[in-house]
Amino acid sequence: MIPIQIDPSWPAGARMGFLEATGLPPLASHPALEARRLEHAAFTSPPPQAQQLHANAAAKFQQIMRVPLKTYKHVPTRDHNDSAEERYFLHQGWASFYQGRDAQDKDPETAAGLMSRAQQAFKNARDEGLWSRMAATSSNLKIKRTCWFCHREMQGLELNIQYYPAHTTEYGRALVRTLGQDVTAIGEGGSSVAVCLPCATMVQNQADAYAQRRTEELKGELQPQINKLVSAVNALSERIARLESSAHRH
Ligand SMILES: [Zn+2]
Repeated sequence: MIPIQIDPSWPAGARMGFLEATGLPPLASHPALEARRLEHAAFTSPPPQAQQLHANAAAKFQQIMRVPLKTYKHVPTRDHNDSAEERYFLHQGWASFYQGRDAQDKDPETAAGLMSRAQQAFKNARDEGLWSRMAATSSNLKIKRTCWFCHREMQGLELNIQYYPAHTTEYGRALVRTLGQDVTAIGEGGSSVAVCLPCATMVQNQADAYAQRRTEELKGELQPQINKLVSAVNALSERIARLESSAHRH
């Protein structure tokens, strides 16, 4: 049998297409190739489909957990080319991640749990980068802060809560403490305060609207002056042109 020659510089899709065109029996009868087809679709699909495709890919890799990976030697992916077990955990992690992303708008607590599940799966897949990313996402989703403006407690840093730059004095920081309020509403170093998403976007949108209005006003004030300058420059240019042409004649 002639060995399959595949150029690793080809894009993943082209390489998969080549693999499928090598005359091997239909994909469905090869769980390993079916798993590859599913994971390729998962990595190239938008979130709503990606979650299901990653879950399906994980299920397929689970079926071949004890079988050595063959095609990955010829057509390697970016990482985790050594075992079906790692690829199983990798896809399980991605499926939980997308499930968490889907849940976070409705319930940050549930989303934090799903991100923790993704974190564990990526840990089992021995993926240090993804594992630490999920750990950070999960712990951010668990964080609760009281909004500096509306005094509502909200959950989910970088989602429902963000810190805005602000000035505080020692007196102001002590006051929050003596009033028994949420001291973590003032950021580390005292140069920011926690703001909930509705308050933050209200400030941003209104500031944008004011800035836009002021820009239009300034444009209106400056336009007549600009027009005046343009006509003065035009008049000067014409005068110079006339002077030049009369100088040529003499
Ligand atoms: Zn608020």
